[in-house]
Amino acid sequence: MEWICLDFINSDCRNWRGSGQREDRLTKPEWWQYFANKWELQVPLPSDPKLLLALRELRQQMRNVVEAVAKGEPPDAGDLHGINQAIAAVPSYRRVVHQPDGFRVEEVVLGEGWDLVMGRIAASFAELLADADLRRLKICENRSCLWVYFDESRNRSSRWCDDKTCGNLMKVRRFRERQKNKGEGD
Ligand SMILES: [Zn+2]
Repeated sequence: MEWICLDFINSDCRNWRGSGQREDRLTKPEWWQYFANKWELQVPLPSDPKLLLALRELRQQMRNVVEAVAKGEPPDAGDLHGINQAIAAVPSYRRVVHQPDGFRVEEVVLGEGWDLVMGRIAASFAELLADADLRRLKICENRSCLWVYFDESRNRSSRWCDDKTCGNLMKVRRFRERQKNKGEGD
């Protein structure tokens, strides 16, 4: 299952191959195009400094909560408050509609623009926390990657965001460590 909130958290990404240097993709047109297309967002690349600050703050608050969850610790109340504020900025109401097969309650969302996008990201994170199996919410064990992902492996055993990239890299690193230690032992 895909979550807009996780995609968004990972816009603050690292060079997984080695340096672990951070790269903020929020202001990168290629990344923004991918993100906006994928989630059908009707907003342009963020450029306003105040907006960027708010987006980065929300992203950090969500990452902090993921880190707390991964450690089995309670989240910081301030982080949760920030996430809830983003949700609250988008008013919505429910109404009953009639269809041939019966009645259905639907939620009508009134927000627009960036408030709507941030509200949607924050609401998706809220749903993930409340509804998903949080044992599957993980942070890649490659310390220079730290990608946040949802582990969909059958026995929840995955340790890396991607076996082919970070997984292989970590295996090669461990192998080299062992070789080095062997060499020193002789
Ligand atoms: Zn990774």
